[in-house]
Amino acid sequence: MSKTRPARVVIVEDNALNLELMQTVLAGAGFEVHGAADARAGLALTRRVHPDVVLMDVQLPEMDGLEATRALRADPATAAIPVIAVTAHVKKDDEDRCLAAGCVLHVAKPIDTREFPRLVQRVVGGVK
Ligand code: MN
Repeated sequence: MSKTRPARVVIVEDNALNLELMQTVLAGAGFEVHGAADARAGLALTRRVHPDVVLMDVQLPEMDGLEATRALRADPATAAIPVIAVTAHVKKDDEDRCLAAGCVLHVAKPIDTREFPRLVQRVVGGVK
């Protein structure tokens, strides 16, 4: 069997406890996890580590997660990286706004710690 590298994840989340929870859950599931506390740091981190997926909190100080997602989509270096929006908002129009900004999926907070790694893995797909 060939050795596979762990899927690489960038989490952009300004709430330290939420960031720690997602990092712990995903690292425990075997992901390589990188965290950033605001959009600008998240964009720089994404360009540097080129993750397989970005988990983007929508409500961030200064630049919000949707604007950051549009910036990733607009940059050829990061345009192909799927972005999962993570937000406390659960209304249909919020989900529509996330998808319109270029997110592949919308996840509501609080995350389901059992389902979350599976969901991220589904988006990453067959990373080798
Ligand atoms: Mn937030």
